[in-house]
Amino acid sequence: MIYQIIPYGDPVLRKVAVDIEKDSVDVKKMSEDMFETMYAASGVGLAAPQVGLSLRMFVVDGRPFNEGEDMTEEDKDPSLVDFKKVFINAEILSEDGEEWGFEEGCLSIPGIRQDVYRPEYVTIKYFDTDWNELTETYEGLAARIIQHEYDHIDGILFTDHLNPVKKRMLKNKLADITKGKVKVDYKMKFSK
Ligand SMILES: [Zn+2]
Repeated sequence: MIYQIIPYGDPVLRKVAVDIEKDSVDVKKMSEDMFETMYAASGVGLAAPQVGLSLRMFVVDGRPFNEGEDMTEEDKDPSLVDFKKVFINAEILSEDGEEWGFEEGCLSIPGIRQDVYRPEYVTIKYFDTDWNELTETYEGLAARIIQHEYDHIDGILFTDHLNPVKKRMLKNKLADITKGKVKVDYKMKFSK
């Protein structure tokens, strides 16, 4: 099942999402649907609030970032090999290393891409869809995708990380997205 993606401006994207109680949600089915939704929109990460569910869960699949036809082996990011995962009730334990810039986008904010600075490493504790508790450290683009999606379950969007000048420059574009005045080639749930 493909969900409609919630656009910038919807209050669900600003809520701090709540933990999923074990067995209260079919997390396997929900993650399958979230992956299907994400692939249909050509994304590499999708958080539950982006499909209108204020729950602490997100899915990632960074492999497409490593598969460009014009990509040399050197361009590839080893952190993305097999990086298809589901994070349930995640908690970031630490973020370390130098902050580095990368041009981020977001399925809830179509048509806008901006450099965002984030620390290089992230250590995260979470449950998988079998409810195994895991603690792992990620780097590179894998860490980047996790940090972006984790922000979503705390009600934070990548545009929040921009400086005031950039934010002001994007104000009208963001308002247009909220009003549905944007072209997207996937299903979004505009309020009217
Ligand atoms: Zn996003």
